Amino acid sequence: MVQQYRIFIFILSFLTINSSLWASSTDQINKSKQEQIREVVHHIMVSNDAFVKNMPSGYFDRHIHGQKPIVTMVTCADSRVHSHAMDVHPDGDIFLVRNIGNQVSTTEGSIEYGVRHLHTPVLFVIGHSSCGAVEAAMSRPKHLEPSIWRELETIKVVGHKADDHAQVKESVESNVNHQVSIALKKYASEVKENRLTVLGGVYDFRNDYSQGNGRLVLINVNGETNPSEIEKKYNDHYK
Ligand SMILES: [Zn+2]
Repeated sequence: MVQQYRIFIFILSFLTINSSLWASSTDQINKSKQEQIREVVHHIMVSNDAFVKNMPSGYFDRHIHGQKPIVTMVTCADSRVHSHAMDVHPDGDIFLVRNIGNQVSTTEGSIEYGVRHLHTPVLFVIGHSSCGAVEAAMSRPKHLEPSIWRELETIKVVGHKADDHAQVKESVESNVNHQVSIALKKYASEVKENRLTVLGGVYDFRNDYSQGNGRLVLINVNGETNPSEIEKKYNDHYK
């Protein structure tokens, strides 16, 4: 804790020195940006301090000698999507891989590590309502950087009207199903031998599915996308 506090003070000092050095050459906007950065660092360090203090004694012992997660989860990097929505205590449970548009190809190695080295029995690809990456793949704005364009390449959409909620919802689903199909090809042997199940879902904070804001909606189980078939075949296992 003392060491952590020293690092915290160091970061704050660094930002303070930077602020004073730049003061003569920066305008009010940059000053307020510096203040915002200080507040962000403070928020994160104080949050971590509270997290550590709230944990029961010995809580971190189970993390020290390795991990045995139950699921490799691929979600969008969107700030509105976090693992605590899928698992009350995600620590140690979720091998979490995040990228824009919850794609398999753009983080192939990380996912493969979860599936083939940590041997999680489930690979779960989760899209979400109003996904900006899906909307960008639909509308294809010209101002995006090449690195971002490259990371939109394997998003599969159904149209180009990013202001049409129904079409965005359909494209989010289409993308999840496409990512599941890529995963099913790559991990065909694991799935065939029942060592892996590939799931697709949508984290619906917009209530597009009329099941309530924030519900996780299962839309794909090993390539099965028919809701009644999912319900019929997998109800006992997945609900
Ligand atoms: Zn997204």
